[in-house]
Amino acid sequence: MKNIKPSFYNVIAPVEEEKEYLIYNVLYGGLEILNYAQGQFFEQLNNGLIDYEELSEQEESLVNYLYDKGFVVDSVRNEQNEYHVKYLAKQDKLYDRDEASINLTIGTTIVCNMGCPYCFEFVKPNKSLNSVENLHAIIYYLEDMIKKSPVKKWRSVNVTWYGGEPLINKRAILNLTPLLRSLCERNGMVYNANIITNGILLKNDNWQLLADCGVQNVQITIDGPQKTHDKNRPLKGKNKEKPNYFQILENLQNIPSTIKVSVRINTDREVSDSIDQMLLDFQVYQLWPNLYKQISFNPAWLRTYEEANEEDTSMRFDVDEFFQFQQDFRIKQVKIYNKFAEENGLSLGKLNWKLPELQDECATWVSPYSLVVDPDGNVHKCWETIHESSEAISHVSEGFDLEKHRKFMKYDRVELNDICVSCKYMPVCEKLSCSHQAEKEGKPECTWWKTKTEDSLVAQYLLLKHNPELIVAPNHLTAENTGHSNK
Ligand code: SF4
Ligand code: SF4
Repeated sequence: MKNIKPSFYNVIAPVEEEKEYLIYNVLYGGLEILNYAQGQFFEQLNNGLIDYEELSEQEESLVNYLYDKGFVVDSVRNEQNEYHVKYLAKQDKLYDRDEASINLTIGTTIVCNMGCPYCFEFVKPNKSLNSVENLHAIIYYLEDMIKKSPVKKWRSVNVTWYGGEPLINKRAILNLTPLLRSLCERNGMVYNANIITNGILLKNDNWQLLADCGVQNVQITIDGPQKTHDKNRPLKGKNKEKPNYFQILENLQNIPSTIKVSVRINTDREVSDSIDQMLLDFQVYQLWPNLYKQISFNPAWLRTYEEANEEDTSMRFDVDEFFQFQQDFRIKQVKIYNKFAEENGLSLGKLNWKLPELQDECATWVSPYSLVVDPDGNVHKCWETIHESSEAISHVSEGFDLEKHRKFMKYDRVELNDICVSCKYMPVCEKLSCSHQAEKEGKPECTWWKTKTEDSLVAQYLLLKHNPELIVAPNHLTAENTGHSNK
């Protein structure tokens, strides 16, 4: 047996407790369980310590099996190059393609009613999208884009209302929605809308407004229970003394049936220590699991923004802590849900496997059909520059100009630096998907998959072995990146 080699993208995770091995391929997503002897053999093979000419019959049959599964490949292959070629072919299709959607993020205002110390938008010029000319110019820009592009079928306009706190200028949402809806009708497109809000203003009338304006998904942020939330996300100025955390929970009780809410939890050590209290509050307010079809949690690793000049960042997680938090939080959720399900005669829930996913680049940055519009009508290619008009590429009144998008479309994660190019986690590295950060830093912080894939595989496998009622068998998925919300 010759002319073969192990795949560059293999990950090998011994499961000492079970005397077994898990092997995983980062690029193809294959996952196999080997017995201990097979695992040790494969580990040696992967480390180049096996002579292919001297395999026993049993070993040869295992190698053949692993060849079929992509863990062993022909030695002439250059998998990294193959990945790059496919990647470039996909990037090449950003403009000239048969079908496309428009991702439009609109900053209705830069003003916010919270003063979160970690917020990158620490400099907030007092600007809101009010000018009727600019509202119409947004429609003109999109029509111009549709007219000038080679796309044959336009699928949808996906709007995200953003800020500051976008509901401070709800007039912009009210005024722009009918214009966007009729643009969709004229062009046979579906209209989808989301909002990112801190949740304080989600009173009944605003829920109704969002439902009427076709908003289907709301992302709010709750950083743990009252103690941590109100400290990390304080209300500003004359609102300082008003209820904050509990006001948001009350607001969530009135969520319309057409809307889904994703609760982002920016997590650090303090939030993690008190997360049980937050989950309890959600139960007491009959929000979750009661409204499990509408409300879900999305923990995020609270990072440090240099620009925010925070005084104390000592509570930030390291990689191991965030990894452990995520594992524990998932298990906590499924246990609470299953207790609720039993009491209410519902089917029990199980966790899905969390595996590295192939990453697309941030569509806001790379796609010429994605844009962020600031309150002055400037066009940006990134959510994080919305407060900085000098970073804008054009103004909506100028119409669509492909040339302005070109340098963003050229982003290439493989060419970024000398370190990432030889990293097997590159195809699944979500840190490289944020082109803004990647280009700014040259080499961003590594994805936690780089150090935690083996631990994650083993932890989920042991859970499957010992608590099969809590987790399903693994299933690999590919994520689609529609913009900053994947961050
Ligand atoms: S993911 Fe990165 S590049 Fe994309 S909008 Fe957010 S900050 Fe900008
Ligand atoms: S940032 Fe780190 S994990 Fe991501 S590709 Fe580069 S070296 Fe690998």
